[in-house]
Amino acid sequence: MDLASDMHTKTTETAPQSPKPVRYLKGVGPRKAEAFKRIGIENVSDLFYFFPRRYEDRSHFVKISDVKIGAFVTLQGKVVSAQLKPLKRLKLFEMWIQDDTGLFSAIWFNQPYLKRIIHENTHIIISGKAELYQNRLQMTQPEYEIIDIDEENPVHTGRITPIYPLTEGLFQRSLRVIMKSVVEHEMDKCVQDYLPASIQKRLHFMGLPTAVRQLHFPESFEMLEEARKRLIFDDFFLLGLRLMRKQQTVKRKKAIPFQYAADTLKEFTARLPFQLTKDQETVIREIAGDMSQPAPMTRLLQGEVGSGKTVVAAFMMALAKRNQCQSVFLIPTEVLAEQHMETMTKILKGTALKVALLTASITGEERVRVLEQLASGGIDVLVGTHAVLQETVQFKNLGLVVIDEQHKFGVKQRSQLLARVPRPHLLIMSATPIPRTLGLTVYGDFDISTIRELPKGRQPIKTVSISSVDESKLMTTIRAKVAQGEQAYIIFPMIEENQKNELQAAVQEYDRLKNGPLKSIPIGLVHGRLGYEDRERVMESFRKGLIKILIATTVVEVGVDNPNATVMVIKHAERFGLSQLHQIRGRIGRGVKPSVCYLVSDHQAEDALKRIKILTQSQDGFEIAEEDLKLRGPGEFLGVRQSGVPFFKIAHLSRDHEWLKIARQEAKNLLQTDPDLNASEHQRLKEMTG
Ligand code: ADP
Ligand code: MG
Repeated sequence: MDLASDMHTKTTETAPQSPKPVRYLKGVGPRKAEAFKRIGIENVSDLFYFFPRRYEDRSHFVKISDVKIGAFVTLQGKVVSAQLKPLKRLKLFEMWIQDDTGLFSAIWFNQPYLKRIIHENTHIIISGKAELYQNRLQMTQPEYEIIDIDEENPVHTGRITPIYPLTEGLFQRSLRVIMKSVVEHEMDKCVQDYLPASIQKRLHFMGLPTAVRQLHFPESFEMLEEARKRLIFDDFFLLGLRLMRKQQTVKRKKAIPFQYAADTLKEFTARLPFQLTKDQETVIREIAGDMSQPAPMTRLLQGEVGSGKTVVAAFMMALAKRNQCQSVFLIPTEVLAEQHMETMTKILKGTALKVALLTASITGEERVRVLEQLASGGIDVLVGTHAVLQETVQFKNLGLVVIDEQHKFGVKQRSQLLARVPRPHLLIMSATPIPRTLGLTVYGDFDISTIRELPKGRQPIKTVSISSVDESKLMTTIRAKVAQGEQAYIIFPMIEENQKNELQAAVQEYDRLKNGPLKSIPIGLVHGRLGYEDRERVMESFRKGLIKILIATTVVEVGVDNPNATVMVIKHAERFGLSQLHQIRGRIGRGVKPSVCYLVSDHQAEDALKRIKILTQSQDGFEIAEEDLKLRGPGEFLGVRQSGVPFFKIAHLSRDHEWLKIARQEAKNLLQTDPDLNASEHQRLKEMTG
């Protein structure tokens, strides 16, 4: 996740020379320079990667006699009449052109200056929609281009014409003129190929300058396609190379190799009340194999909530202990840290491992004792929140760092723990299944282990979409479940910008249900504004079954484990992302009784309906994640706070994924032949990916 910040600054620079600001270009004054700056373009070299949003085919001239009304056409002809006409309060400029088959007219409103540009006998190309107006063929405000009859290289029409994305202060025509001039006169200075000739040859790529030129002013749609291929490849190739080189740097550091004997695992599992799943065994082999190397591990373990990641992590900590090393288990919140402390104590019972907890609430003598024991080696596993990152926390021999829900931590915080010699092995864990393509780009500098299989005995969760008019039926169902001794969640969305209202909605709903439809049933309410202790008290009561129904804003997303809860109601389901809904749903279906999830929504928007439908049909987190990525794109998928989405000039993850594979393979091959990119041919690549 570390690459986002530097990706943005580095990938846009392509110019080997000192940058030339855009304001030195002809046609760019201070105003336009400002406008460019707003969209991130300061230097001429940035302009090359400011690509058209789409293209219009204005390359074929239609004969006037062949024009079909309503069609978008490009015509070429000689002006036979051009005049300014007053029309009510408007100034109308009217022009007639002629080709060898007929006459055609065009009008512009309030552009009297055209009189000075378009004269009789001017040769002109116009593009636009053909209309029939009072029995004459005409275009309103067409795109036009005056041509020298011998000119072969028009800008606005008579070609496949680029349509650029605009912003205030930028106009299509003048922008196109600027781009044309830049592509013609600045290319050699700004765009130089960095891709080794052997790769270009093998993949039949056009050179970079050609590709960039074709993307702006394509000679044909075939050339455009070739150009796109080349740049999509480059996006993935550069990212892949950057990530692989980063991993290479880590792998060159020294770590303590953990000896791994098969009986360690047997011994460990013998005490557990369950058998490991196949996937758990597989990932244990992968992770332990990785940690047996003298190079540090950097690995992501992904698996849905409840898939049994914690047990895997606990085993790795036992392995660390066998190798005289301490471990730290970093957890994003205090509630969770305490829960993990409990779990770890349970899992590690009967082993020699000593586990301790360190959070901001642990103070005074207790804290002093923990710190002392940690420094002297009396503690093997430290479970904790950000509190473990403080300087006063000293380890005797830290060999393994495990981070749960790693996206809640910054990269800096992570490196703080890792910056020691020898470097600890790093295992990060995530319960958000991440689609493979996205994983390769965002976690490209990590090895990935995946648990797909849930432990046996988990009940499938039935998921139903309902609207709020069905509430009374729903309440009857809940009452019946509670009467059978089961429990339920009712979840409200919590959106940053509207926290107050959302909170109010949850509180009001709590009051209404408590005094109305769910009267006489013990109900609890938790939300983000509640103090830590209050929240913990309510959660605890719910876990113990004293509270039967827990109303909550999305805080439970990361929270409690209560196998007795069998009903999940998600209000305003349309406001949640797919993966998020899936994760919330994962709070039920943990016991032996069947569970139901109700997605309540009155929303009719198509994408909302689609999301909800996918959820009612699938329970596979990875499948859902793929769909989510398709629907929302990588930025939204990962969430705003998680800025690890790589910046691509042109590539699109879902659409172009076959190129991702090819590009990664090429990057890998290149590093195999020249690990440090020392060959002179690789110098530019080295700079760009270092
Ligand atoms: P995760 O961290 O992936 O959300 P946990 O490791 O907390 O999942 O496991 C969830 C629950 O399942 C825990 O109560 C754990 O003891 C239990 N569990 C883990 N592995 C297995 C298994 N192989 N069989 C049965 N139960 C398991
Ligand atoms: Mg967990």
